[in-house]
Amino acid sequence: MKKVLVGYGIDVDAVAGWIDTKDGSRADPVEISRGMFGALVVVDRLLKLLATHNIKASWYIPAHTLETFPVQVSRIVDGGHEIGFHGYSHEYVSQLSEQQERDVLRKSIDVFMSFTGKKPTGWTAPAFTTSSRTVHLLEEMGIQYDHSFMHHDCQLYMTPYSDYGAVTTAYQGDHNSRRNASDWMKRMPDPKISTLVTVPANWHLDDWPPFSPGDNSSNGFIDPYVVEKMWKEHFEYCYEEYDEFVFPLSIHPQISGTPQIIKMHQRLIEWVNGFDGVEWCTFEEMVAQYKRGLISGFNVEKAMGISEERYPTERK
Ligand SMILES: [Zn+2]
Repeated sequence: MKKVLVGYGIDVDAVAGWIDTKDGSRADPVEISRGMFGALVVVDRLLKLLATHNIKASWYIPAHTLETFPVQVSRIVDGGHEIGFHGYSHEYVSQLSEQQERDVLRKSIDVFMSFTGKKPTGWTAPAFTTSSRTVHLLEEMGIQYDHSFMHHDCQLYMTPYSDYGAVTTAYQGDHNSRRNASDWMKRMPDPKISTLVTVPANWHLDDWPPFSPGDNSSNGFIDPYVVEKMWKEHFEYCYEEYDEFVFPLSIHPQISGTPQIIKMHQRLIEWVNGFDGVEWCTFEEMVAQYKRGLISGFNVEKAMGISEERYPTERK
């Protein structure tokens, strides 16, 4: 018997990531218009697609989007979907100071709570970048799961803290700033495990790199049939190799809302539904099932030979 939890994580970045250019360069109003297209036009297209197939998705929404496009966000909430948070202005967390990171998390959660009346369960790091503090801070703020880390590609797991120790080899620079090689030649410290669950993120199951034109982290003009084939083969491999696994997709309205990509999603959903044991659900539901022992997962410590101990959430 197979058990496969399949779900869409939808990052409603809207204009947040375009207004915040990260490097002080000016925002381009045409890029901002793409973000507005995502919020104003495509949210409805995706809601319709999901409703047609009776799928509840997880929407990760920057607080900036929530405050700017409350009409669209209300429709998502009314559709019975999960809402998670995704920074304020789509900040790259790895580049924030500790104070900035705390302030952004607090404000994002406050805006979220004033909108929905409850604390978010999960979050996705904007652009999948985090800091060594992030897991500690999310835990401190009562968040239960993350969808940013990539320790596995089809299994849920308890998230390791990111206290990996900074290593600076300083093999470049002037002679005086160079360090002795013995200073950095040390193994990575054993990871400690947090209380957060990770629903694994994966650049290869994300619509941005293949389909977003015009920015240097992406290609923009891949044939949707090529991406569809890649995603299907990912699914097929997992189906052959694992009795239980998750298939979490990460998409963005301003990308996946274009007609040819919406049609790709229609084909993919129908294809996935042809497999036994498939259950579409939110990421929050995946985590709930994992915590109740209804789906097995991955154990980072055990894989590293650090601990033989099983987690309570791990199926015997
Ligand atoms: Zn995003």
